Amino acid sequence: MAFGIDSHCHLDHIKFKHDLAEVLTRANQQGVQQFIVAGVGFQQWPEQQRIKDLYPNIFNAYGIHPWFCNLHQEAHLEQLDALLSDGSDAVAVGECGLDLMPHRPDMDKQLWWFQAQLALAKKNDLPLIIHSVKASDMVIQQLKKHPESRGVIHGFSGSLQQAHNFINLGFLIGIGTRLIQTNTAKMQALLTDLPLTSILLETDAPDGLGKDARNEPANLIQVAHAMAKLRNQDSATILATCSKNAQELFQL
Ligand SMILES: [Zn+2]
Repeated sequence: MAFGIDSHCHLDHIKFKHDLAEVLTRANQQGVQQFIVAGVGFQQWPEQQRIKDLYPNIFNAYGIHPWFCNLHQEAHLEQLDALLSDGSDAVAVGECGLDLMPHRPDMDKQLWWFQAQLALAKKNDLPLIIHSVKASDMVIQQLKKHPESRGVIHGFSGSLQQAHNFINLGFLIGIGTRLIQTNTAKMQALLTDLPLTSILLETDAPDGLGKDARNEPANLIQVAHAMAKLRNQDSATILATCSKNAQELFQL
């Protein structure tokens, strides 16, 4: 039986509220057996804890997503720190990071929250789940100030050179369902070049399949298949290696 880990999903999302059990069963039937739920902000942290208590194969990261940093006040950092401290169920800090698309919060705000979460990762000795959109070089600049940091660049969309820069800084590269939909030359070059030991597989469910479709963790298998084709390797090897990478990073 295959063993897969969805290294980035949002099972706490309202879109899964009515049928999470079925969603998890479909994933299990495909061999996707463990799930890292990335936090986006304080309003969702209690729901993450609720589902984690129901399903032991769900693991939580807690963090403040750059899109939502304006909804937070400094007091939320203390709350976040408590969630990440010793004895908690947290496996990582995130998702946090920088996003340079139009209509996002001001960059100075985003930077403040990202830097605060880098410090919390250091304090609590946890890996980071990083959201980086059109911001790879800025993120790299920040990570260089934290040589102790480790983690994953989720839903990676940068260049091959940037991927190698992240790997040299101790980070893994998260590859998601975009690969099933838009298999670009850039993506192909990236995925044939990178060592499998530097890749995590993810769905970003319910996101990741465009606006109208609800993505779910069972689709992780399709990401493994698409990568297998590109790399000329069998998908079982890909799934097994990338899952081992996730187990090591998040200490599952
Ligand atoms: Zn996400």
